[in-house]
Amino acid sequence: MASNAGPSVPPTADAVIIGGGVMGCAIQYHLASLGVTDTVLLERDVLGSGSTGRSQAICRMHYSNRITTQLAWQSLQVFADFDARVGGASGFVNTGYLVVVNEADEGGLQRNVAMQQELGVPTSVVSRDDLARLAPSVVLYDDERAAWEPESGYADPYQVTVSYAARAREAGARIATRNPAVRIETTGDKVQAVVTANGERIATDTIIVAAGPWSKQVLADIGVDVPLLPVRHQVATVARPVETVPYHPTVGDISQSFSFRPDGTNFTTMGFGDDDEQSDPEVYPQGVDMSDAASARARLGRRVPGMADAYYRGGWSGLFTTTPDWHPILDAVPNKDGLFCAVGFSGHGFKLSPAIGKAVAELVVEGRARDVDLSPLRFTRFAENDLLESSYRYRVLA
Ligand SMILES: Cc1cc2nc3c(=O)[nH]c(=O)nc-3n(C[C@H](O)[C@H](O)[C@H](O)COP(=O)(O)OP(=O)(O)OC[C@H]3O[C@@H](n4cnc5c(N)ncnc54)[C@H](O)[C@@H]3O)c2cc1C
Repeated sequence: MASNAGPSVPPTADAVIIGGGVMGCAIQYHLASLGVTDTVLLERDVLGSGSTGRSQAICRMHYSNRITTQLAWQSLQVFADFDARVGGASGFVNTGYLVVVNEADEGGLQRNVAMQQELGVPTSVVSRDDLARLAPSVVLYDDERAAWEPESGYADPYQVTVSYAARAREAGARIATRNPAVRIETTGDKVQAVVTANGERIATDTIIVAAGPWSKQVLADIGVDVPLLPVRHQVATVARPVETVPYHPTVGDISQSFSFRPDGTNFTTMGFGDDDEQSDPEVYPQGVDMSDAASARARLGRRVPGMADAYYRGGWSGLFTTTPDWHPILDAVPNKDGLFCAVGFSGHGFKLSPAIGKAVAELVVEGRARDVDLSPLRFTRFAENDLLESSYRYRVLA
């Protein structure tokens, strides 16, 4: 028995959710909205302590495929109106989003923007003259191209997570923190129960795995093999000289393989990492490598010259839970009746979480999502070699 195991849980539930990141909490909230309130969410530590609490939390719609664009666009509208739609704060800040690519990627940029416009997303390809008006602190070089999303920005992943959790609790749902699921029981091909670190058994016929970087192990324990790879990604904050750079937008700098956004009124955070730096969720370096931070700052100075001397304030690392196509798996698990997974968000799950919470809850309760076709994100697509494709080589940025 774990010494720090948390509050006790009921002996039965209509559904058990494993993982209290933004996904687990959004799913539990949406289950409650559909009338399924007899649920238990198990979290091994505290809410938001996994990838969610380490997120850069950029919210934009520039993707290479329709499904992710749709989920991001639906979600942005929730973040921007969170108190009215969910209740509580999302911390959403509308900064505008600029995506910058090399001219070699111009075709992909134009294709993506056309697809997004077709889906109703406010976005357009912009010229250097446009940029001088929209974001005068940002430099676009001759061999680069850019697109602009006026409504995008960033939010606060912790506030979003605990708001979903609070609203789910108010509806009657149960949340047990510091109480990991240690075993899923099955009979034949059907799920029966979840056993916690306290040794408690929750009988249920529905289990949703949303355990972030730990999901591969949780599923492997019952013989389900999922191609998930946790990859380390770093975030570093620098002080912004507000006299010279009073404003810059959020930027997906595909051209220089990093991203940055304002952080409050006088800081800027930068996100960077090696897409192949595989990590163990139990033991990985949680700080920032200073040589990487210096390299990111040099790239920031090239893009926003007024930031060239911005000084380092701190940073952290977290894990992207990647799949082979860098897109999530949202599906019922084949041959495990009652088992669902919402895993593999690959570094861009936060911005999708309101729409995914809703879609997964509908999948569980009604057998399919109402507003989106989740089939491109099905469990079997890897075995079928039918992967989602990106217009660019830097995978997390679209
Ligand atoms: C550095 C960084 C920057 C990012 N930047 C962005 C960004 O700009 N925009 C964006 O959209 N996304 C971004 N992301 C990605 C985004 O944060 C994630 O996709 C999202 O938070 C995933 O949420 P989750 O709930 O699936 O996982 P998590 O937040 O990891 O939650 C899973 C939870 O499950 C719990 N758990 C694990 N095992 C068990 C168990 N056995 N029993 C009970 N609980 C268990 C964990 O403790 C954890 O709290 C970033 C991620 C990182 C790391």
